[in-house]
Amino acid sequence: MSRAESAPAVEAAGRFALIGNRLALDFANTVHARRQNVDAIRTVEDILDFLKAAGALPGQAGKLAGSDRTARSELLDRALRLRVALRAWLDAGAEPPGGQTNLIRSINGILAANTTAVTLWREGKGWGLKQVAHPRSLLAVLAPVAVSAAELIAEGRDAPIRKCGNPNCPMYFYDTSRTGKRRWCSMKSCGNHAKVRSFLKRRSEGHVIL
Ligand SMILES: [Zn+2]
Repeated sequence: MSRAESAPAVEAAGRFALIGNRLALDFANTVHARRQNVDAIRTVEDILDFLKAAGALPGQAGKLAGSDRTARSELLDRALRLRVALRAWLDAGAEPPGGQTNLIRSINGILAANTTAVTLWREGKGWGLKQVAHPRSLLAVLAPVAVSAAELIAEGRDAPIRKCGNPNCPMYFYDTSRTGKRRWCSMKSCGNHAKVRSFLKRRSEGHVIL
């Protein structure tokens, strides 16, 4: 049986709960596939599916997708290490890392796999300068995630990173709400469960008359 046939019948794009408002947080949230209690990233294809769903698959990825087995296993290994380090940092309150932590090393290692070069570019009747990405290895497909994580760290303590209010939910998000009081990964799932729970509690206490 091919992998496609044996894979859970969850559409690639719908498999990832892209509720984090920041690519690095959406990536950290892949520990659970949407609507399923399973890891959404188990293969290189899962990584590429995630980047595609998030609109962050670099243009050169197709060229690199046929890379050898060593490069592919390195990509999966480094992606999962980055996620572990990212979640450890988030779980510890997203404080500015004190030194060369696993997270910093992991991010910088991935950023180093992606180089850019300045090139002359036709602009109207003249020429302009443009930065063009030159991925050195398959690992460079993770660069957008690493850049996003680096931006969160550089933002420091002011970054409004929050965890979903449901203690059983692993989702993190960057709170872009006007009031800055977003509590749930999604109103449809965790927010709604909380509303139903509080309704049932009030009813059992006799505060709600049907
Ligand atoms: Zn949640």
